[in-house]
Amino acid sequence: MTYVVVENCIKCKYMDCVEVCPVDCFYEGENMLVIHPDECIDCGVCEPECPAEAIKPDTESGLDQWLKLNAEYAKSWPNITVKRDPPADAKEHDGEAGKLDKYFSPNPGQGD
Ligand code: SF4
Ligand code: SF4
Repeated sequence: MTYVVVENCIKCKYMDCVEVCPVDCFYEGENMLVIHPDECIDCGVCEPECPAEAIKPDTESGLDQWLKLNAEYAKSWPNITVKRDPPADAKEHDGEAGKLDKYFSPNPGQGD
């Protein structure tokens, strides 16, 4: 099992999650974070910390696409353990539909 970052992180990227993860398994893309599924120890402490409710346990159904995306990009994006300011327009994008198609970027973020 692992926890998974899902669509509502895109363009919100509040980063409250990275500060609480005991094993530092968040990786940063340009517009969202992902969790490395082989490093996550399933402690669950990040889930309630996310203001965008964008972290889910993989025991929830319908997350296959997000599991794949987290596993794939955790390999190439840089590790992130220290919170920075969220994007200025994060609130505007919170809860917006179709963010994967509209805004997903495969480019890496800046990391720590
Ligand atoms: S707290 Fe939530 S929205 Fe913010 S970076 Fe983490 S998963 Fe994404
Ligand atoms: S469940 Fe625990 S180990 Fe996994 S990403 Fe969240 S805080 Fe890190």
